[in-house]
Amino acid sequence: MSADEFEIIERYFARQAMSREDVLLGIGDDAAVLQVPADSDLVLCMDTLVAGIHFPQHTSARAIGHKALAVNLSDLAAMGAAPVWATLSITLPENDAAWLAEFASGFFALAKQYGVQLVGGDTTRGPLSVTVQAHGFVPQGMALQRDSAQPGDRIYVTGSLGDAGLALLMQGEAALQERLDYPQPRVEAGQALRGLASAAIDISDGLLADLGHILEAGGQGATIRVDELPRSPTFMAALERAGEDRTSWSHALPLSAGDDYELCFTVPESRCVAAEKELQHLGVPVTAIGIIEPEPGIRCVRADGAVYRPQAAGYRHFSEDSHD
Ligand code: ADP
Ligand code: MG
Repeated sequence: MSADEFEIIERYFARQAMSREDVLLGIGDDAAVLQVPADSDLVLCMDTLVAGIHFPQHTSARAIGHKALAVNLSDLAAMGAAPVWATLSITLPENDAAWLAEFASGFFALAKQYGVQLVGGDTTRGPLSVTVQAHGFVPQGMALQRDSAQPGDRIYVTGSLGDAGLALLMQGEAALQERLDYPQPRVEAGQALRGLASAAIDISDGLLADLGHILEAGGQGATIRVDELPRSPTFMAALERAGEDRTSWSHALPLSAGDDYELCFTVPESRCVAAEKELQHLGVPVTAIGIIEPEPGIRCVRADGAVYRPQAAGYRHFSEDSHD
């Protein structure tokens, strides 16, 4: 490790407000020493962001810091886990003090919000790339998985869909850009769904793709009511301003655009009231959008019962942008 790298670690990453009791040894030794409660399972995930692929080259350092942690907290949320620690492997083209300070401020603001302590990492030279590993706890055996949905279960999504995707298409829409740059992981919602949801996933690649993973894992299919997909007022207003064909875009983006980091989850009929109540209590908007069925494949229907066929042209852009 060069003196330069040591200075970066010391200055930007080792000094942080968070000091958890379950961190016996954090940054500074050869490895971290961490305590897992006896009644918990440890849940781990890791995601890499590469400049120009997972975020546009002009993305601010603060947004990159936020997003690198947020996408991982979103994965923990989809498992029903409470986040506790993170490690950070960062490859930097240069020792840019202003960039590093901004990156750290974005990362640590979100870390602080959820009580996550950065406990180690690696710092190297090269084209900009950021890898975060996040660690969380769930009560033993309670992690939400993808493979346990059953026919008849209702399909829900949190929040609204399509905002981040529309931001990629329409520059200069500040509220949409905020959604793309500063995704808010559904950490509390994920934990509230433990014991209620039969399956859960976070929406990083688009609803059709991510719900598809739940269906493949469980060997099922689904019907989605496309007119009920939740779209934000900002999304609708921006589409109107753009003068685009509203019907096709207002369906195509919520179905297929990624980067919203909402949760998609399934709930057995008998637990739907309880699940809706839990999320309402947390102030998390939730919308029932369809139902799990035994026949494989996703069927999209309009309010009048007509079949809706997702237009390839409407969302091809996003499949090219998907590099997970
Ligand atoms: P080693 O050479 O023993 O692998 P490093 O020089 O890679 O040690 O790291 C020294 C310490 O700093 C370790 O505790 C490591 O986890 C931590 N560290 C290195 N880079 C980062 C980073 N980007 N964020 C947080 N901790 C880091
Ligand atoms: Mg090392």
